[in-house]
Amino acid sequence: MTIYLDHAASTPVDPEVAAQMAAVLADAGLQANPSSAHAMGEAVRARIGQARAAVAALIGARPAEIVWTSGATEANNLAVIGAARMRAARGRHIVTAASEHVSVLAACDELENQGFSVTRLVTDGDGIVEPQAVATALRPDTTLVSLMQVNNETGVVQDIAAVGTLCRSRGILFHVDACQAAGREPIDVRSQAVDLMSLSAHKMHGPKGVGALFISRETAGRVEPLLFGGGQERGLRPGTIATQQVVGMGVAASLAAARRSSDSARLTTLRDQLWQAIGEVPGVYLNGHPQRRACHIVNVSVAGVEGESLLFAMREVALSSGSACAADSDEPSAVLRLLGRSPELAQSALRFSLGRTTTAEEVAQAGQLFAAAVAHLRRVAPAA
Ligand SMILES: *Cc1c(COP(=O)(O)O)cnc(C)c1O
Repeated sequence: MTIYLDHAASTPVDPEVAAQMAAVLADAGLQANPSSAHAMGEAVRARIGQARAAVAALIGARPAEIVWTSGATEANNLAVIGAARMRAARGRHIVTAASEHVSVLAACDELENQGFSVTRLVTDGDGIVEPQAVATALRPDTTLVSLMQVNNETGVVQDIAAVGTLCRSRGILFHVDACQAAGREPIDVRSQAVDLMSLSAHKMHGPKGVGALFISRETAGRVEPLLFGGGQERGLRPGTIATQQVVGMGVAASLAAARRSSDSARLTTLRDQLWQAIGEVPGVYLNGHPQRRACHIVNVSVAGVEGESLLFAMREVALSSGSACAADSDEPSAVLRLLGRSPELAQSALRFSLGRTTTAEEVAQAGQLFAAAVAHLRRVAPAA
């Protein structure tokens, strides 16, 4: 049986989420189009409204500020491209970090192709983007700053509230990719001064194929749609809402909110046990800030072994070498290169990521398998 330690790539659907999604699919009273005026449409709208309220509650937002999307890739594209285009008359400069998720970076590349200019801040050696570095990068024509709360490769946590306060004081929109933070770190869009926030259901024990973009009431009307069609989601995201998907995301959000403190306390203990076991192996380095990190990720570089060989030698454990989104490229992770790791060490990175179903036994076993695999590879196939 494979030990699943790849929760930063995707989390297993919580049984309660699966049960409620199945119930929606099987309920003859919930099959109408949620846009329909009749009573059956109204019943579906009511169910979607509950889910919207649950997602809003998770981040301290109002239900009317939540727009459903197909996932966080779409939410990030809608936030970055939609806000930049809408404000193009005011300015065409965007600030982000080079360690952002590819769906933010690629959206910025696309804006650059359209004549916008983008500043991609580099992190310090611990993976932190200092709020002061953001302040220095701002220009009179800056309209948007996009920064993730928790990095998906290293688990490093950024100071969102400090950057939010800075942006607010300058009248600049602030977008946060909170996929890895939801259900793990505290989130409150009001006290963090966030205007736009992306979430993905499958990173918090919900289904794949659904996400949400929070657009604050004050920001409504300052984001252009990417898709055109019916008037759903106030015209920002046309298309029939996938009832069972958003219900699943709603249940996942309720569970994430209710379980956040206990889940993160438990995972912090397991994360520390895992690091204790693997950090004992000589030549193993923790990637990212030693304290400012989320509860579920341990990313290490291993001297003297090759990353792909290590993944293969540990194939009883489902792990990633960088992020899942870049798994088919053999480029060393850009996020790790920013930490000042040599190409060799960046290439030998291994990301362990824990979740609600992870047990202490699994963590102990993974630690032993790691130590054995590293010792074996250094003996038979030492890397240059
Ligand atoms: C997974 C992830 C995404 C993309 O989410 P999808 O719903 O799979 O499109 C974006 N940002 C971060 C930080 C992620 O971890």
